[in-house]
Amino acid sequence: MKLKRYFTLLMLIPMIMNAQNFETDVLKSKKRNGSEIKITFIKHGSLLFEYKNQTIYVDAASEFCDYSKMPKADFLIYTHQHSDHFDTTAVNDLLKPNTKIVANQEIVDILNKGVAMKYGDDISLSSDIGVKALPAYNTTKSHLAFHPKGMGNGYLLTIDGTKIYISGDTEYIKEMKDLKGKTDVAFLAINQPYTMTVEQAVKAVEAIMPKIFYPYHYGQTDEPTDIKTLESELENLDAEVRIRQLQ
Ligand code: ZN
Ligand code: ZN
Repeated sequence: MKLKRYFTLLMLIPMIMNAQNFETDVLKSKKRNGSEIKITFIKHGSLLFEYKNQTIYVDAASEFCDYSKMPKADFLIYTHQHSDHFDTTAVNDLLKPNTKIVANQEIVDILNKGVAMKYGDDISLSSDIGVKALPAYNTTKSHLAFHPKGMGNGYLLTIDGTKIYISGDTEYIKEMKDLKGKTDVAFLAINQPYTMTVEQAVKAVEAIMPKIFYPYHYGQTDEPTDIKTLESELENLDAEVRIRQLQ
């Protein structure tokens, strides 16, 4: 792994815990060389990004966190309506008058508010944050009903030039190849039987080649993901694998 050259770009401060004892990392954003993107690993698919006093929650679901104790949301991004990703309690706990919600169509219909994003839609959330909806779906015949194509989204979140791919619930899909060379950080969902197998995740990392790969959305299933095997399979790739506490 060629780690050194990333240290000028991305700085890690590991194991800082916040009030509810979530692990966090701090990355330096690309453009302004010095502004910090803080990532809080809440649990499963639930993440928080903070950048210059802006809070961006991804898939805030109240089974994983008491969001009434968390900072209010400037932006709420939801991949899809499954209960391990979304519920109205979390939304209500995080809402403030000017919160912007970005989600798939089903969630916008449930909430009766927000911007419904379909694959390819690309919007600005603020002067330095943008989000693009990307495909996320199952491909294994017996798993197609979990996440049919067109139901849920993955997202490419751009924070001050830093490109962060959040896969949502998907298996390896050919569209991931489009992210090659365009992705600094990739969160790939790896629980079974709903999302990627270890083999598929390796294929996805090889296709995307992010600088940093965070496995996420693991655990909460009877078929635990073999994270150790995943790590060792990726040992020789030029992508840093970071395992964070998400289960
Ligand atoms: Zn799902
Ligand atoms: Zn899920």
